[in-house]
Amino acid sequence: MKTDRSDILTCLRSSGDYVSGQQLCERLGVSRTAVWKVINQLKEEGYRIESVPSRGYRLVESPADVYSESEIASRLHTKWAGKKLYFFESTGSTNPDAKRFAEEGAPHGATVVADRQTAGRGRRGRSWESPAGCSVYFTIVIRPAFAPDKASMITLVMALSVAEAIHEVTGLDTGIKWPNDIVVNGKKVVGILTEMSMTPEMNEIQFLVAGVGVNVNQNGPADFPEELRRTATSLKMECGKTVDRAVLLERILARFEADYETFERSFCLSGLKQRYESRLIGRDAAVRVLDPAGEYTGISRGITDTGELVVEREDGERTLVYAGEVSVRGLYGYV
Ligand code: ATP
Repeated sequence: MKTDRSDILTCLRSSGDYVSGQQLCERLGVSRTAVWKVINQLKEEGYRIESVPSRGYRLVESPADVYSESEIASRLHTKWAGKKLYFFESTGSTNPDAKRFAEEGAPHGATVVADRQTAGRGRRGRSWESPAGCSVYFTIVIRPAFAPDKASMITLVMALSVAEAIHEVTGLDTGIKWPNDIVVNGKKVVGILTEMSMTPEMNEIQFLVAGVGVNVNQNGPADFPEELRRTATSLKMECGKTVDRAVLLERILARFEADYETFERSFCLSGLKQRYESRLIGRDAAVRVLDPAGEYTGISRGITDTGELVVEREDGERTLVYAGEVSVRGLYGYV
């Protein structure tokens, strides 16, 4: 039943005009009654669908910010990103779900989406605040043909895709705080967590999962827990408008698919570096590197083709900072 809904919505949406009941039945191999039932269900959910006896059905308007498997699937025009979609109203965390599906054979690009996470995760065992009804949480499975030492670059590819998708949908000026946070007006709106699973021989990547959390429609600081109010924000708080999550997710997946393919041509960031650096926060400014082996300060000088942050120390020597255990801060605050 679910697939019929997505398929019918996809047909109506992609046609943009009337589609006859007969055409829908033939295309989807279902009965007239089944089509009629789905159309009624969609109408009940707030989709405005016109039906004209001799012409068929036409999708006039979708309700604002519907976030469901059918709504997301009917918007996607990707080749592989999100083609296989799993949608949960609520889950612990989309990263472990995606890993489980990948273990069971989910294809490259399979994507787990949730409306809410009860145990959203960040790097180094940190948590990601994941309330229902206002954010985008998803994890995409990647089956790469590259060596494990290239895996950390995927976080940067995703950061670029998400930063540009947000800019496209909202007009907001998004910055990237190396390697994995997206910031608007000095506050964090996106977290990204990439994890890798190795083959039993530990010499090849079995799959990667890249998880993304975007604060989208929180209304104000009161929608965040006390400890995040100073550093976190949402797209709505910054652009003043409710943002359609399905539209945003579609843009992110489409951009990630294209950016990943660019990355795959060279297995480095050379084709994306310029765009990434144009959004890099704190470039040519002083940064503090919170390295567990010892903190230090220096001037951020951009990234290398393989995604390390270049930090110029006081003596002029350039240090490459590897993502992983390290956080970077501006000298006087979070960015
Ligand atoms: P940094 O590099 O800045 O130290 P990180 O990359 O290690 O951060 P992440 O794993 O990206 O951190 O995110 C987890 C952190 O983000 C949490 O410790 C918390 O401070 C903050 N956080 C948790 N939930 C949210 C949210 N919904 N919006 C913004 N920030 C959040």
